Amino acid sequence: PFEVLVVGGGPAGAAAAIYAARKGLRTGIVADKFGGQVAETVGIENFISVQATQGPKLVANLEAHVRDYEVDIMDNQRAMSLASLGQTSQGLFELELASGAKLRSRTVLLATGARWREMNVPGEQEYRGKGVAYCPHCDGPLFKGKRVAVIGGGNSGIEAAIDLANLVEHVTVLEFDARLRADEVLQRKAQSMGNIKIITQAQTTEVTGDGTRVNGLNYTDRQTGASHHLALAGIFVQIGLVPNAEWLKGTLELTPRGEILVDARGQTSIPGVFAAGDVTDSPFKQIIIAMGSGATASLGAFDYLIRHSDE
Ligand code: FAD
Repeated sequence: PFEVLVVGGGPAGAAAAIYAARKGLRTGIVADKFGGQVAETVGIENFISVQATQGPKLVANLEAHVRDYEVDIMDNQRAMSLASLGQTSQGLFELELASGAKLRSRTVLLATGARWREMNVPGEQEYRGKGVAYCPHCDGPLFKGKRVAVIGGGNSGIEAAIDLANLVEHVTVLEFDARLRADEVLQRKAQSMGNIKIITQAQTTEVTGDGTRVNGLNYTDRQTGASHHLALAGIFVQIGLVPNAEWLKGTLELTPRGEILVDARGQTSIPGVFAAGDVTDSPFKQIIIAMGSGATASLGAFDYLIRHSDE
């Protein structure tokens, strides 16, 4: 069996695997698609010490770094379920893959990340990375001095609007409901900024573009039924992040939002099972944060193995 079996090949999983291998532990990494969200990212300018890079380049570096160590990489493999085999099997865990294969390990480190919730309207996919963006911390500066929209009036949407309003010319927030769900203090802050306009009861129906880049969006006023067009350079979709933890429901403790609960060492509600990165209840989701939490959880697993070495 493995001593550390990492599930997920994004920044959190890669960091975890390297830290485990450097401790001389038998380490495996199972990934549906190595690279995770980073593979879909164009420009990255906040990975500290690397001034600017691109998603695919960072993924290649991540993989090369993992391959420097004795790590068994199982790419294009999807985990379907996790079970504890109990004390009779020395506390081993068993991970079942979609292929039917079963892997055993003394500790498991879950780093399956998350995905942005999409609007599912025409144009969204076509203009993804060409004006349709999901991460204001990442892509906000690309829209300096331009007009943008934020879709979603929850905390993340209003935070994004406030953040963007410092950089861009103007922000329009489109909220589907009759009122914003964001905290009062955020709403007040947004209202106090001169360049944020909030439109409620607005259903975005289409992302429009010129064939190469976004040039606006269409929305329906749900109260009157009238259709409107907004001219924009960018659209930030802020309608939620979905953790890739559906397959763990009932196995370990998740938050109401479906994120894996972890302690300061990255341990989940099951001793010996750790988690890191965007799939956890970590309040901020970024590459550098995912890597740090992957290292933390890996050291947590190492510590667990030392204390349970006689079992
Ligand atoms: P992920 O990167 O999501 O990786 C998850 C891994 O788990 C993948 O390998 C996936 O295939 C695998 N997986 C999922 N489910 C299973 C399963 N059941 N079985 C096996 N494997 C599974 N952050 C920044 O810091 N700077 C940026 O500029 C930036 N730009 C971004 C732009 C975009 C478009 C997006 C989407 C995100 C961006 N982020 C950025 C956020 C950053 O990418 C994430 O915070 C980070 O990738 C999280 O790392 P992770 O390892 O936790 O998860």
